[in-house]
Amino acid sequence: MPHSPEAPTTSTSTSADRLSRLKALRPSRPATAVAGLALLAVAVTTGVQAAGTDTSRVRATGAPSADPDIAQRLAGRGADVAARSQERPALDTAQAAERQAAADTAARVEAERVEAEQAREAERVEAERAEAERAREAEEQAEAERAAAERAASGWVVPTSGYTLTGRFGNSGSRWAHTHTGLDFATRSGTPIKAAAAGKIASAGTAGAFGNRIVITHPDGTQTWYCHQSRFAKTSGSVAAGEVIGYVGTTGNSTGPHLHFEVHPKGGAAVDPNKWLAGKGVAP
Ligand SMILES: [Zn+2]
Repeated sequence: MPHSPEAPTTSTSTSADRLSRLKALRPSRPATAVAGLALLAVAVTTGVQAAGTDTSRVRATGAPSADPDIAQRLAGRGADVAARSQERPALDTAQAAERQAAADTAARVEAERVEAEQAREAERVEAERAEAERAREAEEQAEAERAAAERAASGWVVPTSGYTLTGRFGNSGSRWAHTHTGLDFATRSGTPIKAAAAGKIASAGTAGAFGNRIVITHPDGTQTWYCHQSRFAKTSGSVAAGEVIGYVGTTGNSTGPHLHFEVHPKGGAAVDPNKWLAGKGVAP
């Protein structure tokens, strides 16, 4: 190739052209990058905004982007972010509900524990009460057995109940026409009168000052009298010790409802009924 003066010029101009092209290109590179970033930002923003509304529209909106796949992926990521940001309050709510459920369970367990304790306490109190009741019943049973044993031993019982002794044997004064020959059990009218011992009813009827009277003859010949009765329960036949023969009244020569009770050993003269009964182990 012949040496040409233009050659270096050409060469220079070519270099200058290249340089100017490079210079022209250089600023364009960052500009392209910025434009690309802006596009991405638009895609992401659009994706995020769209995610909140309708996913299908994200693709349509992202379509104008240079790379539809990237836009779609970005949109998808945006949707994930949005979904996660929506999940957060849902998570908080779930945790709060869990904590509440745990608190409820603890409260229920505590309430059940207290209830069980109260039930145990009530059971303990009931057991003590039942035990006291059993003890009382046992004592009453023992007392009844003692009374039965005494009755069996002597065969005699106190002839009425709920009384006050108002007239003793041998009392004298204006209340009695003669010396008092019996023992007075003052008690409510209608209170049952019981045979003091087993025997046979010798008589039942009115007897002057004694009012309605029953006389019982016992196996050893002793006779007992039951006077001033309001009415009779039995007027003949055999009676057991404690059997009801009539009811307290105030018939005959009487100032108020009471049982006038007499004891006549062998059917003879009256003796002190208090002493007689005491001798049989059943002092009134
Ligand atoms: Zn009397």
